[in-house]
Amino acid sequence: MARSFDRLALATDVTSPRSRPVLHAECGASCADAPLRPARHEAEAALRTLLAWLGEDPRREGLRETPDRVLRAYGEYFAGYTQDPALILQKSFDELDGYQGPVVVRDIEVHSHCEHHMVPFTGVAHVAYLPRGRVVGLSKIARLVDAFAKRLQIQERLTAQIAQSLFTELDARAVAVVIACEHQCMATRGVRKHGANTITTQVLGLWDEHASARAEILQQLRVD
Ligand SMILES: [Zn+2]
Repeated sequence: MARSFDRLALATDVTSPRSRPVLHAECGASCADAPLRPARHEAEAALRTLLAWLGEDPRREGLRETPDRVLRAYGEYFAGYTQDPALILQKSFDELDGYQGPVVVRDIEVHSHCEHHMVPFTGVAHVAYLPRGRVVGLSKIARLVDAFAKRLQIQERLTAQIAQSLFTELDARAVAVVIACEHQCMATRGVRKHGANTITTQVLGLWDEHASARAEILQQLRVD
């Protein structure tokens, strides 16, 4: 009885100093079920282990600062985990003076990382929505793309998340998102196919319900 209590106490001691909850990737909120986030020095130690596994000496001069540099780079690559997409779209405008057409933003740069290999996939996103009286600043569309792209992703989910978030948060009448990316995991390893573009498309609302409207908006978002 005493032994099992001790084990419980030990387990609590080990985990409590680093029990800061991470942001949940899907809901953006602190989630009790999310795994514990290790401390920065633990992440640096993991990178030194990785360097040694590669056959390197993590103590040699050129590599001494590498774990720190990698973590700082990761802080930028994966900044999306600290961003709340709903917050980005919160400030909207309704002075449209009768404008009823779609809003189309083409060629938004996409820099993301595939969750299967943790290597980059890059390309462009074309985003369109049909406002129901409210629009957001155009830069917010680009920030929305970044908030979802700067996480570990698959291109299909990235496309769906951008579309759904615009549709829900802006109460848009229709949304269409087309993303075209080259995946480094396909270009530099595995099948090694350079220049192969993956194109994903998500259409929601009015544009999804009418074939002619869908064709018309996708024509505007076509990848050249
Ligand atoms: Zn991959």
